[in-house]
Amino acid sequence: MNDWTGWVSIPLKTGAAILAADFVVGFVHWIEDAYVREEWPVLGRLVGRPNILHHHQPRHFLRNSWFQSCWDQLLLAAVLVAVACALGWYSWPVGLFAVLLGNSNQIHKWAHRSRKENGPFITLLQDLRIIQGTRHHAIHHTDPKSTHYCVITEFLNPVLERLRFWTRLECLLYRWFHLRRRIDTSNRRHTIKPDWLPRAAVGMGRG
Ligand SMILES: [Zn+2]
Ligand SMILES: [Zn+2]
Repeated sequence: MNDWTGWVSIPLKTGAAILAADFVVGFVHWIEDAYVREEWPVLGRLVGRPNILHHHQPRHFLRNSWFQSCWDQLLLAAVLVAVACALGWYSWPVGLFAVLLGNSNQIHKWAHRSRKENGPFITLLQDLRIIQGTRHHAIHHTDPKSTHYCVITEFLNPVLERLRFWTRLECLLYRWFHLRRRIDTSNRRHTIKPDWLPRAAVGMGRG
């Protein structure tokens, strides 16, 4: 590879790493929202409940520390990096992918904070569409809350929705395994809510 193609490949690899991380995050989020049940042992408490709580009270997770919010994606990123190292596939785009994957819920948190809470730098990143902003993420929190699962960028969600990617996947899973989406009790038409939810209802975000 000569110098010219080497330099051209840097932005391409950067873009591919960002979109790959966004897709994996969206995929995991979709599984959590659609199929993880709160009554499941271990996974229900560790993943299902925080997820259900986030749909009912979107700003509740802002009180969690960085590690409390990111531990599961960090674990997934660490496993993927370990596998890449073991297979001799590790490179800087893999590292970038892992950093974004591990911190995706932090970017998600910023989409629930106000411009004032985020400060000028994060707000600028959101305004420039380098990371996902509040208005874009609010689509995910609009009933029936079954679209726009990717939380890092604003690029992938419109493409995946145009392809009806998640809906088609759900249809296939139903056809092959009779798997049904769990009911999202945070949607307005559901009047019965989980009794373990904290009392104070908090809005989607301000700003
Ligand atoms: Zn969700
Ligand atoms: Zn959210």
